[in-house]
Amino acid sequence: MSQYDYDLFVIGGGSGGVRAARRAALLGKRVAIAEEFRYGGTCVIRGCVPKKLLVYASQFSEAFEDARGYGWTVGETSFSWEELIANKDREIDRLERVYRTNLDKAGVHTLESRAVLEGPHEIRILATGKLVTADRIVIAVGGRANPHPGLEGAQHCITSNEAFHLKRLPKSIVILGGGYIAVEFANIFLGLGCKVTLVYRGNEILQGFDDDLRHELHQAMVKKGMSVRCRDTLSKVVQKPDGRFEAHCQSGDILDADEVMLAIGRKANTENLGCAAAGVDLDDRGGVVVDDYSRSSVPNIYAIGDVTHRVQLTPVAIHEAMCFVETEFRNNPTKPDYDTIPTAVFSQPEIGTVGLTEAQAAKAYEEVEIYRASFKPMRHTLSGRDERTLMKLVVDAASQVVVGAHILGPDAGELAQVLGICVKAGLTKAQYDATMAVHPTASEELVTMYEPTYRLKRGEKIAA
Ligand code: NDP
Repeated sequence: MSQYDYDLFVIGGGSGGVRAARRAALLGKRVAIAEEFRYGGTCVIRGCVPKKLLVYASQFSEAFEDARGYGWTVGETSFSWEELIANKDREIDRLERVYRTNLDKAGVHTLESRAVLEGPHEIRILATGKLVTADRIVIAVGGRANPHPGLEGAQHCITSNEAFHLKRLPKSIVILGGGYIAVEFANIFLGLGCKVTLVYRGNEILQGFDDDLRHELHQAMVKKGMSVRCRDTLSKVVQKPDGRFEAHCQSGDILDADEVMLAIGRKANTENLGCAAAGVDLDDRGGVVVDDYSRSSVPNIYAIGDVTHRVQLTPVAIHEAMCFVETEFRNNPTKPDYDTIPTAVFSQPEIGTVGLTEAQAAKAYEEVEIYRASFKPMRHTLSGRDERTLMKLVVDAASQVVVGAHILGPDAGELAQVLGICVKAGLTKAQYDATMAVHPTASEELVTMYEPTYRLKRGEKIAA
């Protein structure tokens, strides 16, 4: 019999923590998990899932417009933010119950409490004051939106957390940031009829994505009526007597808005977690420092998911959890694999992407072939919508391996999953070409771009 109360104690009931707890329990381990807020974590409670529901909601405005070209007469439409939020909350409640049920079914002891480390094997359950011990501990407490303490008037701003629970839909919103969350919410609010201004400090939104897609998405958002202000930031936010806000830009412009939202990255939730007491080292931004196996500076304490400041994506946290269980409970040391992670930005149009961008490939390879197709998707022929789809394959000329695939257009996220398999498998361009097209689809372009659009030799663009 072990000297500890549990074989595994997981702190944090988000995607990573729940997966680690369930997998370990299903292997017969004695497992407890503590969650201070709601089971499901950022992804389910106030991230990916509710966001996607809001994305769907925001797409109807264009769908109603597009319907006309297909012969439909759509009567007067109206939108209820209150109803959307209530329905969204019901779905989130249901999912939370599913998470709990799955933990129960696996035999995990669930605790509704904040849990704090008091030593390498000791955890204090704050709700009861009880001290419990565990052989192994997993820190999976995730992160939270950066509140931007340096910004004067930051207390007036909302983050994505509050955006999911606004009492009413703002007529106008200023969003600071140019990453996933800023871009996704800017498109959601625009689709729901708000006046949206995106303020981003860099030259182009979505740093790290393929430049072509960044530029095309920027143009598409502007065409839909969004104001996108790059190379600018906010210097202060002031609340006016009528309760509305003034967002003061560094450029000197003052933007009037019902809400100002900050989406400037997320930071690890390690404050007052007892990491120092347990001897767990943190990085300079508060993230848990881990080795290739997600092990912290304390050998029996692991950290997975957003709290480690590695890749802040739900599937990555789940993968890290699976690797942890393999390593520790199945005697099969397994490092998480971060190579070639497909991802999507649920902007409108959507981005789906995997592998190297053109710029990254140009640095990595002597010669690169770019296959690029920009076209009006069939759906928009009759709808008359002036929106194009962009598809791009990045190929290492020497090996002919497709090292990157990037799509801007409807369902790009869905396509990214399948392209993720192809790019991860290291398929060559000839293998794409040998694949029969599915007709009529937009994605058939991916197997019918026979000649490079252009090449890059030592980073220099040359004709095909
Ligand atoms: P990101 O890291 O994606 O973007 C942060 C943005 O804020 C960047 O544009 C950054 O600019 C800007 N920024 C950072 N600090 C400041 C500052 N002090 N002043 C002004 N601007 C600033 O973070 P998000 O908050 O958008 O999202 C967090 C993470 O959540 C993402 O990285 C992603 O991993 C995950 N996520 C994934 C989604 C998906 O898979 N679809 C959806 C939503 C979130 P710069 O580029 O110049 O650094």
